[in-house]
Amino acid sequence: MTADAVVLDGVSRTYPGGVTALREVSLRIRHGELLAIVGPSGSGKSTMLHLIGTLDRPSAGRVRIDGYDVAALPDRQLAALRARRIGFVFQQFHLAAGTPVLDNVADGLLYAGVPRSERRRRAEVALDRVGLGHRLAHRPHQLSGGERQRVAVARAVVGEPAVLLADEPTGNLDSVAGAGVLALLRDLHAAGTTVVVITHDREIADGLPRQVRMRDGQVVADSAAPLPEGVR
Ligand code: ADP
Repeated sequence: MTADAVVLDGVSRTYPGGVTALREVSLRIRHGELLAIVGPSGSGKSTMLHLIGTLDRPSAGRVRIDGYDVAALPDRQLAALRARRIGFVFQQFHLAAGTPVLDNVADGLLYAGVPRSERRRRAEVALDRVGLGHRLAHRPHQLSGGERQRVAVARAVVGEPAVLLADEPTGNLDSVAGAGVLALLRDLHAAGTTVVVITHDREIADGLPRQVRMRDGQVVADSAAPLPEGVR
């Protein structure tokens, strides 16, 4: 595993209509990092999340995920890269209503070519990891917000992605449940997962080992040591 988890190299994104949401952003995330991308509303965080998550392509510059140049991949391979190497956690949980927790998590492996029995076995392991091994048959509406977000985290990591992208993961939670989800992300990081938390909350960002600060589509501060000249 030599490649970085994420490399953005001079990445810009201009939307149809002319809004430039990202301007020549360069960022390197190594495997095993835990960092916050933090900035006010409109600073370009979601745009960056979409680009790192390969849900969108840059207007200029290069995006590499786990060593793969996103621009060089046809759509089908890009979808496969996304399914196997990126885990998503959203503010709104995005769990399938009425579907047992175990299947919600097992479905995280649907596009990874894993047989059903193996999907369910791995889902159980992932749910154990997030402290919900005793809730396998529950439906999302029978869980608290914090528990739902734990299920979403289990689904995101069940395929052991190269990068876990968490978009305002505590935004819908009270402070106790939010702290629990952050502690879980720290545990995953301690076990080797690369975790990127997108947040507008400086307090959350300041509690993480690295902060990348965004403003007006640019990285205005990065607490990681600057890279030597020529290294990207
Ligand atoms: P943040 O996540 O930090 O709130 P965004 O990346 O959502 O920032 O937005 C950055 C800028 O890009 C804003 O000015 C926003 O209005 C604009 N923007 C975001 N998405 C789109 C889109 N799909 N079409 C046009 N403009 C967009």
